[in-house]
Amino acid sequence: MQFKCNQTLPERAIHIAIKGPGGKCQRGDGTACFIANNVATTPGDMTERGCTYAGCRGVVGGPVKDAIQLTHGPIGCAFFSWGYRPHLADSDFHMKYTFVTDMNETNIVFGGEKKLLQSIIEANAEFPDAKAVFVYNTCSTALIGDDGRDVAKQAEAIIGKPVVFFECEGFRGVSQSLGHHIGNETIFRQLVGSVEPEGDFSRSINIIGDYNIKNDIRTFEYLFEALGLRIIARFTGNVSVDDLKIMHKAALNIVHCQRSATYIADMMKEKYGTPYINVTLWGIKNMSQALRNTAAFFGLEARAEEVIAHEIARIQPAIDAYRQRLQGKRVFIYQGGPRTWHWIELLRELGMETETAATTFGHTDDYEKIFRQIAEGALVIDNPNVPEIEEILTRRRPDLFISGNKERYLAYKLGVPFVNGHTYDTGPYAGFVGMVNFARDIDKALHAPVWNLLHQHARPAPADRHATHGFEEVES
Ligand code: SF4
Repeated sequence: MQFKCNQTLPERAIHIAIKGPGGKCQRGDGTACFIANNVATTPGDMTERGCTYAGCRGVVGGPVKDAIQLTHGPIGCAFFSWGYRPHLADSDFHMKYTFVTDMNETNIVFGGEKKLLQSIIEANAEFPDAKAVFVYNTCSTALIGDDGRDVAKQAEAIIGKPVVFFECEGFRGVSQSLGHHIGNETIFRQLVGSVEPEGDFSRSINIIGDYNIKNDIRTFEYLFEALGLRIIARFTGNVSVDDLKIMHKAALNIVHCQRSATYIADMMKEKYGTPYINVTLWGIKNMSQALRNTAAFFGLEARAEEVIAHEIARIQPAIDAYRQRLQGKRVFIYQGGPRTWHWIELLRELGMETETAATTFGHTDDYEKIFRQIAEGALVIDNPNVPEIEEILTRRRPDLFISGNKERYLAYKLGVPFVNGHTYDTGPYAGFVGMVNFARDIDKALHAPVWNLLHQHARPAPADRHATHGFEEVES
């Protein structure tokens, strides 16, 4: 099975499969569903992946609201990792400012360690209320051999607060995914457990792997609090350095993004014995299950049922109304990682089916979850490149494309309704009330009057779309 656009890139074939009868894959040898993932991009492939630094600074470290976010590298690395993810907080310091050593040619020739030390001291002097300095290494400063770890130690002694050095140079991994891992490990090693607070933490949790995109936490934090639980830290949406220092005190970790943050849950389990449960905080069934599983750990099952019943009663009329308008629509979901499989069930609750599923940096466990949930005939593709996305949109013609800003205008140009699931145009989308927002935005995208003007883009009947899965067999 091969895309037309990949005839000169046959290496892509092992990243693509269609779920066939009995859960088998219509790909090559017809074996059970598996596609290659988390491997180096083939040269010449127009990948949309980010670098290791982007995953560490943009996703995991960046949301920490009271740390100075300092990039040790050229200005370009800093600019393009700043502010593109709306991980909001009750302070805008981390969104408003970014810091960079601005490495130039002279620094590259003679080294940037002195400049880094000076930058940390200056930034701290300008913003003395910041609780820590996070320093992110980049390709150029790693290649010239700057010892940022040593500089961080020197700086810490001078400014008297944590200077956390992330060895997340862009070239280290095959995608941003390694940056998530490095971000988890570094924060765990340098901050978690560095303060031992007094108090009773027997009914406390951490929410791991939520980045508070467009205030998602407002849609689910109150639900856990309604169970009588205290949230110590969110890793890392709307979190402060002080919260991270004491997160080892939690009785339970609940892990939402199971790609970018299971690492810290595993480390806390090993070092502190903190158990964790995996949850999905999007969709009615998933959110209900998350509350039930959390409540079961603390013996609060009856209270959970009350909270769930109350919330569902609030939103069900709206969900029913949207479901009537969305019924039968076929969706292409392309997200960074787990959101793709998190949303398959949510879309079914709205009457829609995922016909194509893709991730940028998913690993085997993400694809196993996708293959388990999707229907027969669905296409699954790892790390799709731009020509592949265009081919999917033009040949399979999904009714809706849920993706990110990089793909938005391609979708519009091809006449495919689009919802920004990556950074949300409106949101929040998590929890029960977020589900209504999500349904509203999907409805607006699908039924925008502009589509009535695009007669030239008449869609093939669904039956025709199924006949060849939108693709022709091409020798691979
Ligand atoms: S790949 Fe290297 S140079 Fe490019 S943004 Fe990432 S760290 Fe900077």
